[in-house]
Amino acid sequence: MANQNSSPPIQLFESRRKVFPQKIDGTFRRLKWLVMIIALGVYYTLPWLRWDRGPNAPDQAVLLDLEAKRFYFFFIELWPNEIYFVTGLMIAGAVSLFLINALFGRVWCGYACPQTVWTDLFVHIERLVEGDRNKQIRNDRSAWSINKITKKFVKHSAWILVAILTGGAWVFYFADAPTLFWDLVTGQASYIAYIWIGLLTCTTYLLGGIAREQVCTYMCPWPRIQAAMTDEDALNVTYRYDRGEPRGAHKKGTSWDNRGDCVDCNLCVSVCPMGIDIRNGTQLECIHCALCIDACSSIMDKIGRPTGLIAYDTEANIERRINKEQTGWRPLRPRVLVYAAVLAVVFIAMGSAYFSRKSLDLAVQRDRNPNFVVLSDGSIRNGYTIKVSNKTLEDQHYFLTLEGLSGHGFSEVGSQDNDIEAIHLVVPGNELLSTRVYVAAPSSNVKSHSMPISFVLTEQWGGPKYRVNDFFKGPDL
Ligand code: SF4
Ligand code: SF4
Repeated sequence: MANQNSSPPIQLFESRRKVFPQKIDGTFRRLKWLVMIIALGVYYTLPWLRWDRGPNAPDQAVLLDLEAKRFYFFFIELWPNEIYFVTGLMIAGAVSLFLINALFGRVWCGYACPQTVWTDLFVHIERLVEGDRNKQIRNDRSAWSINKITKKFVKHSAWILVAILTGGAWVFYFADAPTLFWDLVTGQASYIAYIWIGLLTCTTYLLGGIAREQVCTYMCPWPRIQAAMTDEDALNVTYRYDRGEPRGAHKKGTSWDNRGDCVDCNLCVSVCPMGIDIRNGTQLECIHCALCIDACSSIMDKIGRPTGLIAYDTEANIERRINKEQTGWRPLRPRVLVYAAVLAVVFIAMGSAYFSRKSLDLAVQRDRNPNFVVLSDGSIRNGYTIKVSNKTLEDQHYFLTLEGLSGHGFSEVGSQDNDIEAIHLVVPGNELLSTRVYVAAPSSNVKSHSMPISFVLTEQWGGPKYRVNDFFKGPDL
């Protein structure tokens, strides 16, 4: 028998309230369409753009070639040892986000974040299939019927199709797009490509179609970081409560004295993709998409009041208006200047590093086990691995010599020539050559257990020399 005195179980989690955002038109909605078209256009077409780099290099403008360990971005080509460019790009991305946040709040979240762009697309598909907000709510609450099942089936099928196209486009960044497309269609592509398409199809469908606003509210760290970094002078989508309150329904023809401009129509709440009420002040859930500005402006136009009850504004301005002070925006604040300066330094450092980089790289790694070998004639021998990256598109001829050890002889492992003074290396264009060499010297010339030496690489037809310092190891004296 049930205990009559038992209290209801405590709910630790609020169940999800489904959001049915209402369609709205206006300046910011049109801006969001524009950003969405550009973002999706760039994402889907970029791998198909060609870029002529010469006969020995791929002609895809943007390509992350994992097999050859190269990243191509139009005229930029990065090798694995230039990973610091990627680090620089990540730092620049983070600082740009801080800078934009200090100036315009969460515009990235509201317009350009992939989660926003794809969710917006999925919401639009949903609207096309199921109708606008009221129809969707009615459909959701109605009993299951052929009509309801058909609508849900069409909607989810369209979402899955978009998700497949999204996952499909992603893999084209990692291989020659036309070749991979043909391989995918004919079933000859590597199983890894199909796995990646499957994974990205699932994540796009789940994040953009099913989870939607939950991703921004619970999964993304940026709202928390942003909340800690913003200040009262950042431009945010703001309800101007100083003008809107006290709110309430307004009868046409009656006075606007002693009341606010908000007529409590709730349209700003109905259009919100996050399902929140901007009039409750700054909220972590608000992605600053500005659709509530469009909604409120349409209402203000209808009732003949000035638009801008919800607008891009700063907390500082609201305070100033309440105190009857002059309002304005202060973009040049210390934090903005610091972020801009850091960003400039990062870009200048990356640019100068890229444009002053050498057309080849020389790396030397000495054998550690054993450190040295004593040969039958008593001479001491060390082994080294030499790596030469030829970053030009033509084959290059180099001579490798050694400085700092008198009487030494060079031998390349696998070559018939022993105890030579210089090793002739031919490195094909856009490739890395790895070879092992031995350096041997009479024990009388090995003056300490660790002698500094230099490997010098000279281009065959003259030109710059490339030098790497290392050590020649011998027994303790
Ligand atoms: S409150 Fe306004 S700006 Fe914020 S998410 Fe909702 S509609 Fe967008
Ligand atoms: S749309 Fe404007 S008038 Fe209507 S409830 Fe929102 S703030 Fe008030």
